[in-house]
Amino acid sequence: MIDSHAHIGQFKEWHCPIEELYKQMQKAGVRKAIISNIAGNEFDYEHNVLNDQTILEVNEQTLEEMKKYPECFKMLVWIRPFSKTGFERIEDFIHAHRGHIVGLKVHPYCAGVKLNDEKYVPYIALCERYDFPFWVHTEEDGYSNIAYMKALAKQYPKVKFVAVHMGLRTNHREAIQAIKKYDNLYGDTTLVRIEDVLYAIKECGQDKILFGSDAITMGEDSYGMYREMYRRIQEEFGQETVEGIFRSNVSKLMTWDI
Ligand SMILES: [Zn+2]
Repeated sequence: MIDSHAHIGQFKEWHCPIEELYKQMQKAGVRKAIISNIAGNEFDYEHNVLNDQTILEVNEQTLEEMKKYPECFKMLVWIRPFSKTGFERIEDFIHAHRGHIVGLKVHPYCAGVKLNDEKYVPYIALCERYDFPFWVHTEEDGYSNIAYMKALAKQYPKVKFVAVHMGLRTNHREAIQAIKKYDNLYGDTTLVRIEDVLYAIKECGQDKILFGSDAITMGEDSYGMYREMYRRIQEEFGQETVEGIFRSNVSKLMTWDI
């Protein structure tokens, strides 16, 4: 299996050492994962400033950590659109470490920048130049709304977007319809209930949904809820679909030999 959405780093009460992620992956049969560093969040949930790290420091840390297990990880560059400090050097960073980086990631609420803000434009331009998908935490919080994702997918048809959570804490219907409509918009399974994932596959087709987990933010058995999901997808749709969702779909979004 390949996990398209796992984390390292520290944000609030979530502490995610890469060693623990690796351990849980081994146990769950997850061979590879795309990681991003949650320390990249600029604000907490009350919108207090958390730290003044630059985008470079956050992502250099990810790069250093993943070198401990070079075969297992690729990374997303966690962007910090609010302060923009270090932005001018991020392209050099991407260029220098192109083999390790497969996309960009943002949590708009904790970035303090609504997804419809023009501060994202230079980052989307980077995605376009490097053929990077843009992974976005989606939730109806006024910052990360599916409506904003839809607008981006429409405005930038050449860029692939991944709606992480398919609209967290919603019934996912709006996200699923958007993923169905836009060829360049994908959804993931991160913290989505099994029934809703099954519905998403039925509606959007097996190629549009990726296995993502948020491991290890859910504790010592962060992959627990996905075991049953795997079984149910296999049961309802068969082996080819389960292979796509848990392995090959994500690799089709990028150049990554599996
Ligand atoms: Zn996440």
